[in-house]
Amino acid sequence: MEASSAGSEQESGKTGYQLLLIAGLKKEIEMAHRLDPEQLAAEIRKIGFRCQHCGKCCRRAFGDNRVAVIPSEIERIREYTGLSRLEVAGPFVPEAPIQDKIPADDEEYPETSLRQPEEDEEQLSPDSLESFQECIDCEGRVHAFGWILRRKRNGDCIFLESDIHRCRVYPVRPMLCSTYPFYIEGLRLQTCECEGLGLQISAGDSLKLAEDLLFRYVSELEDTLVMYEKFVDFRRDEKGLELAKSRLEDRTYTCVVHDSMGSTEIID
Ligand code: SF4
Repeated sequence: MEASSAGSEQESGKTGYQLLLIAGLKKEIEMAHRLDPEQLAAEIRKIGFRCQHCGKCCRRAFGDNRVAVIPSEIERIREYTGLSRLEVAGPFVPEAPIQDKIPADDEEYPETSLRQPEEDEEQLSPDSLESFQECIDCEGRVHAFGWILRRKRNGDCIFLESDIHRCRVYPVRPMLCSTYPFYIEGLRLQTCECEGLGLQISAGDSLKLAEDLLFRYVSELEDTLVMYEKFVDFRRDEKGLELAKSRLEDRTYTCVVHDSMGSTEIID
């Protein structure tokens, strides 16, 4: 048994843990395909939901508003806006602590132009690096798995028109946004905090939401699977963390983002 497991690790170039992860994802995808949209719609109707158009889910002041996106979603927004891939999304790094006083309005943070997104707030700090040392290679590069939409300096989504709570990329908004506040995890329907929960939803709307949710669930799982299949592990050592810290202080750090398309190196 041991010999065959070591053999398959050698053949694939992956660790036992990575192989387990891949096998688990394959199994979950298989089971996700069997979920019944009608049953999911019934669950959604029981919970109830109607969007209040408050825009809170797009704003950092009201909680974690990170929007994870897969490459196909970045591409759709890129085509729609004419922005570059890196203007649309940045590395999915751990959340920076929320500032003590984030203004509820944008007076201090004027609306950014779509062509020239202002500097986003996903800046790593040397102290925060300690908590994810596992993601730093021996050359001091920080590895991230996936992307999130860029945010303004105050943490709001870069595509939010704050004064009127309108999404500037509504027709091509990410699946996470169009299915909010619902998501599926471990084959079960889950909800995020939202003022619209508990309000009546029609049979047609709940079914559409259920179908979108299932599509999102399977798409994200399949994308993650391809990412892990392509991922080639990196070497870590003691010096990597110190190197990353000093580069961060000099603002010359490098991030490597892994996704289903491969790896992208971003030099700050
Ligand atoms: S893409 Fe649109 S809906 Fe999604 S968080 Fe940004 S502004 Fe809100």
